[in-house]
Amino acid sequence: MKSTIDLNMVNAYVPGRASVAPATAAMIERRDALLGPAYRLMYERPLHIVRGEGAWLFDPEGRRYLDAYNNVTSLGHCHPRVADAICRQVRTLATNTRYLHDTILELAERLLATVRGTRLAHLMLTCTGSEANDLAYRIAKMRTGGTGVIVTDTAYHGTTDAVSQFSPSLGVTVDLGAHVRLVPAPRLYHAGGVDLGERFTRDVEAAIADLRRHGIRPAALIVDSLFTSDGILPEPAGFLEGAVQAIKRAGGLFIADEVQPGFGRTGEHFWGFQRHGVQPDIVTMGKPMGNGQPIAGLLATADALAEFGKNSRYFNTFGGNTLSCTAALAVLDAIEQEGLVQHARPIGEVLREGISALARRHAAIGDVRGAGMFVGVELVSDRETRTADRELTSRVVNLMRDKGVLLSACAMGHNVLKIRPPLVLSPEQAGLVIQALDESLGEATAAAAR
Ligand code: PMP
Repeated sequence: MKSTIDLNMVNAYVPGRASVAPATAAMIERRDALLGPAYRLMYERPLHIVRGEGAWLFDPEGRRYLDAYNNVTSLGHCHPRVADAICRQVRTLATNTRYLHDTILELAERLLATVRGTRLAHLMLTCTGSEANDLAYRIAKMRTGGTGVIVTDTAYHGTTDAVSQFSPSLGVTVDLGAHVRLVPAPRLYHAGGVDLGERFTRDVEAAIADLRRHGIRPAALIVDSLFTSDGILPEPAGFLEGAVQAIKRAGGLFIADEVQPGFGRTGEHFWGFQRHGVQPDIVTMGKPMGNGQPIAGLLATADALAEFGKNSRYFNTFGGNTLSCTAALAVLDAIEQEGLVQHARPIGEVLREGISALARRHAAIGDVRGAGMFVGVELVSDRETRTADRELTSRVVNLMRDKGVLLSACAMGHNVLKIRPPLVLSPEQAGLVIQALDESLGEATAAAAR
């Protein structure tokens, strides 16, 4: 089965589409020669970045860009506390999980403290979010004896062979597994007033039935709890409950992919699934976990892990190394001491309110939504029919880049601006994002009308 969407080239550099400076062109040529054809660059005019600080990135000429797109360096670029902790640790010890060491134990205690009240009991560590989802899938297969996976229709869960088979947003050229079923993402803006929770539950139940009809036992429902590839879909809180019950009734596990929403981004809880009040069997995490140091992993219930633990020996050379664990501990300290979860909420509101106000002047803004510092702006060619305006979205993203504000786009229609700045974004910087969006929408619609 193939995904029917092609997100491969959304917001990617296309040779020849726009003029680029000679130095940039030379670097692109060198890169293509060295790295081959699989990599992509963002923006019509790709950026060469040499330094970062807080929410700012700098090019070789010292021009600064406001980073409204980076949820890896969630504490801000080159956060001093994390940098210092990594330096201290790399001068002391860099080893793996085959030796006893406090850092991983302390990290497990700190992360498990964020999910009190659930049955999640154990931490396992990897280096990337893809690996975390790959491991979660292996665990689910062993626990359930099944292989079937249910995901939303524009989901992204990672890049390994197994996980790419349930990442439809990789586009038409990447095969989905025969054991994979897609359900429509819960798009409130396009739901026409139906009960979204009921509909999502019915869709998951239908996918379970279809798997069974093909002799495939369900292993897991995996969702990004903020549906960030699907277009950023937070509302209404609680809509996941029925679907989670459905997969559990069918003997499968519920896996919350927190690679994007985790670590306080939603501004209300530490994890995205908590806004829905559901109980995951496994929670996967990554991206912001080390503020740039590669570390990812999962939390699982004792029940989910028992079978895997019996049958598999788990060792991951770099997963859980002392250096990465130290970075992750520094990240948790900074989130707590700088009050970043509490900060994400009001600044996210500043962004949403400011952009909603622009909708009075810009008819292309169909919907503004999000949670905390994750904002989606759906651009349409017609507010009545809610038709996706992919071209306009691409123009706006590139105009904003030229004005010095970095963001991107997502969703099946390629028409949702994805705004997810470092959590340290200030109110003034939020204002710059809104102002650049105002100007870019004005210029892009004027150009389209010409
Ligand atoms: N899950 C989600 C929801 C993601 O957004 C990503 C990365 N964009 C991944 C998993 C994979 O993480 P990584 O790139 O670290 O392998």
